[in-house]
Amino acid sequence: MPVIILKSIIFIFGALIGSFLNVCIYRMPRSGKVEKEDFLKISGSQEHADNLWQDLIASGYIDEDGFVEGKFRKLRKKKKEEGFLLEGKYAKSKKQIFDIINKSFELSVDKPKRSFCPHCQKQVLWYDNIPMLSYLALSGRCRFCKKQISFRYFFVEFLTAALLVVLYGYFGLSAKFFIYSLLTCALIAATFIDFDFQIIPDEITLGGLVVGMILSIIFPQLHDTPLRMHALMYSLLGILCGGGSIYLIGRFGEILFKKESMGGGDVKFLAMIGAVLGWQFALLIFFLAPFFGAVVGIIARLTKGAEVIPYGPYLSLATFLVIIWGNNILAYLFYF
Ligand SMILES: [Zn+2]
Repeated sequence: MPVIILKSIIFIFGALIGSFLNVCIYRMPRSGKVEKEDFLKISGSQEHADNLWQDLIASGYIDEDGFVEGKFRKLRKKKKEEGFLLEGKYAKSKKQIFDIINKSFELSVDKPKRSFCPHCQKQVLWYDNIPMLSYLALSGRCRFCKKQISFRYFFVEFLTAALLVVLYGYFGLSAKFFIYSLLTCALIAATFIDFDFQIIPDEITLGGLVVGMILSIIFPQLHDTPLRMHALMYSLLGILCGGGSIYLIGRFGEILFKKESMGGGDVKFLAMIGAVLGWQFALLIFFLAPFFGAVVGIIARLTKGAEVIPYGPYLSLATFLVIIWGNNILAYLFYF
């Protein structure tokens, strides 16, 4: 098959996958997250909603940003509604409060099946859901409410398509191509979720870590070895070096600046990347990412006065560059 046709097919597939990533980016962080406004109806006033909100945080059911904490998730999973304890004046509305928090899990990557407009909630028609093309055809507006659709939807689809074509250019139709494509999708989803919410979901980090280990065993060529045990060892060392390096620098920052400087999400994220790429690349990414982070951090501070910058996007950028040029960089560093 002529290369141009193969590349076109990969581009189209990439755009379709990008469209799915848009769904993940929107839904993953919103599943299991409540807003203060959700409680207005039962609490009656803003003041009561504020108090209830503080009670829920104090009881360990949600965190300050409204993300539902593990304590509630466990009750929910075991269907132990009666274990939901609230002290004080809200105790009698316990059932409704439980239901409101529970409802925040209704939105998930596979529910509802069809995409909807975030403004008017109307279902997107199938012919308005064609990656990239529909965005252009509708000039970036919802068919029904005519509100602007973020350019990011188009961009994520294009980016995914383009990066998969780049990967194909470097790796051909090999196991590495497919696994790196999968990792790249995880990087894209993590990047935009981190931009929006300063979190990287465990489904991506811990889920990816397990998948990375399994793929290392099935495809030892991922680590340039024919031996499965060796590949597994490289993967485990990758988890250790990736997660460990960020963890240590985070602890160091804590001692130095007396405040949390690296989130646990970043630790798990580089651990996951290490599981797929092995310890050498994980360390390379660890040293490379701060350069991008520093450049963007300085720009963000100058333009927006932003204090906190999410770190996931820079880890992602460094990871993609290491995927395609890592061996060249290592060769340059150690044999030049
Ligand atoms: Zn709309």
